[in-house]
Amino acid sequence: MNKNVTIIGAGISGLTTSYLLKSRGFAVKILEKTNMYGGSIRSERINGHLVEHGPNSTLETTPLINDLLNMLGILDRKIFASQSSNKRYILKNGAIMPLPMGPGGFLTTKLFSGKAKLRLLKEPFIKSKSHPGETIAEFTRRRLGNEFLDYAINPFVAGVFAGNPENLNVKTAFPKLYDLEQNYGSLIGGMFKSRKERKQRNEESKQSAKTISFVNGMQELTDALYSNLKENIEFNCIVNNISADGGNYTVNYSAGGELKSVVSGNLVLSVPAYAAADMISGMRGDLPRTLKDIYYPPVNVIIAAFEKKDVGFNLDGFGFLIPEKENRKFLGSLWSSIIFEHRTDAEHYLLTNFIGGSRSPELTKLGDEESVKAVMDELDSIIGIKNRNGFSRIMRWEKAIPQYGRNHYAVTEKIESFMNEHKGLFFCSNFYKGISVCDCIKSAFATSDKITQTTN
Ligand SMILES: Cc1cc2nc3c(=O)[nH]c(=O)nc-3n(C[C@H](O)[C@H](O)[C@H](O)COP(=O)(O)OP(=O)(O)OC[C@H]3O[C@@H](n4cnc5c(N)ncnc54)[C@H](O)[C@@H]3O)c2cc1C
Repeated sequence: MNKNVTIIGAGISGLTTSYLLKSRGFAVKILEKTNMYGGSIRSERINGHLVEHGPNSTLETTPLINDLLNMLGILDRKIFASQSSNKRYILKNGAIMPLPMGPGGFLTTKLFSGKAKLRLLKEPFIKSKSHPGETIAEFTRRRLGNEFLDYAINPFVAGVFAGNPENLNVKTAFPKLYDLEQNYGSLIGGMFKSRKERKQRNEESKQSAKTISFVNGMQELTDALYSNLKENIEFNCIVNNISADGGNYTVNYSAGGELKSVVSGNLVLSVPAYAAADMISGMRGDLPRTLKDIYYPPVNVIIAAFEKKDVGFNLDGFGFLIPEKENRKFLGSLWSSIIFEHRTDAEHYLLTNFIGGSRSPELTKLGDEESVKAVMDELDSIIGIKNRNGFSRIMRWEKAIPQYGRNHYAVTEKIESFMNEHKGLFFCSNFYKGISVCDCIKSAFATSDKITQTTN
């Protein structure tokens, strides 16, 4: 049997797949375009502040994450979000209001009008069901009403996808919501019933799953993976083309001024959709074009530290998200040093703020100073910043997060049939089965299981 595997892309998806396969006796070769591993995951300690360039945390929605951490020997480095970060805020009429977390809070909150609350109570009696091409906005309007869309789902989607619910497909972006309606006919009723079933499967729902990171940030995870894969990775590789022949895949690439090639029975593409599209452009079918069309909006991450005495609000939660209706320049603010310990020193607050996404991609074009000023002005008007001259950094993601558009369900079907036609070729990346770090790890397990089953 050919136990050689080539993996292209060294983000969390590619690294995890490589690590799992290597631990099962496969000879793995990883080709990475840049001179760094980790993809979107990068943590840096600057002047004592822990700067996360990409994800700050992930939701532990599967026990597989602990399996991985155990194998890597870093389970004891995992940290959970603080109790106070259970509190989340939404901006409404210029002020931040706590998002109600339970039925009692929901009845008394000022975030939603009485009319919106009554509308929500009707949800279990709505008989219509979603269809595969429904957007998150259509789904929410139909089941929960406009106000819930504007002041809960719209900011939430901006926080998770840097996206807009009007353009995202509910079936693939939020499969659990879609399935609740399909299986139980109601979100509220389904949540109660499915909780019991999930317990039996030992799984967590996204609502109850714990938010996790690592003592020194998310990069501890990719560092641990990399330390097991050092001799398997080749950096600074440009993939020129891929060809399939007699059950093998040949990847022709350039590295260090040399033309090279690698042949293997299995090939895993763990790169963004637009890069995968170029790689398979010589193969049959229209998947390359479909993958090229997946939109990745730009996002700027602006990290800022303030002395606690200079902030006019006692930060006591996860942070706040901003509904589009509020017409602000940024998407929201994570209160990183409240969520996790070890993010900064005792005198400071560390905040991670987001600009752009599909809501306002043009704002990511602002220069560094202008971007920081835009965020500072907004923060000042919302939580009161007396001295804005402290630490700040800006990270730019020109193509940040793949948007699961209205027809993404059809895109995933096309990906599946392409993989069925090309035995041994796999897509394992955030544009396919979920964008969160935890989803990428789940996909890596699924991909390596498939390769193990079909190769042994
Ligand atoms: C700003 C930001 C904030 C986020 N926040 C969160 C969060 O809080 N929680 C969460 O769970 N998720 C979050 N995410 C999403 C999550 O981080 C990503 O979806 C996930 O890390 C993607 O991993 P990946 O390996 O699939 O892709 P990537 O991380 O994109 O890795 C792809 C790799 O492929 C390489 N590559 C690209 N082109 C080529 C090529 N032609 N040849 C070879 N290699 C190539 C890249 O250099 C990269 O190393 C965030 C993402 C961003 C950008």
